[in-house]
Amino acid sequence: MPETSKEVPLKLALVAHDAKKDSLVSWAQLHEKALQSHKIFATGTTGGRIIDALPSLDVTPLKSGPLGGDQQLGAMICEGELDALFFFVDPLSPMPHDVDVKALSRLAIVYDLPLAQSPRTADFVLQGVLVKT
Ligand code: PGA
Repeated sequence: MPETSKEVPLKLALVAHDAKKDSLVSWAQLHEKALQSHKIFATGTTGGRIIDALPSLDVTPLKSGPLGGDQQLGAMICEGELDALFFFVDPLSPMPHDVDVKALSRLAIVYDLPLAQSPRTADFVLQGVLVKT
């Protein structure tokens, strides 16, 4: 009997700093259909915003970023559990958890994980990783 091909859901991480949360929610709304068949992991507050705006998505909220959520995502990157990171950073505000922000971006680079830090780049990264499925 021939094997049937089954679409494997991607594991996508979504994170946005406070000043960028509206932008990430708008971006996710624009790509709602494409995101629907994939698993989304998000830092706590970002995840809550996405769940409220897009109840059709499969979102797992982690701890809030400053309380360890960034590090939880970093651990997932180390374990090879993510396919892409969409991390909308605010380059204009100082962050009390700047070390976590740097560590998360750094691990994405160390493990060569597709990383988008702004909406237009996110369009390209999403398109690229969707080709895998
Ligand atoms: P938050 O964390 O989604 O819980 O606000 C984002 C961050 O790392 O600043």
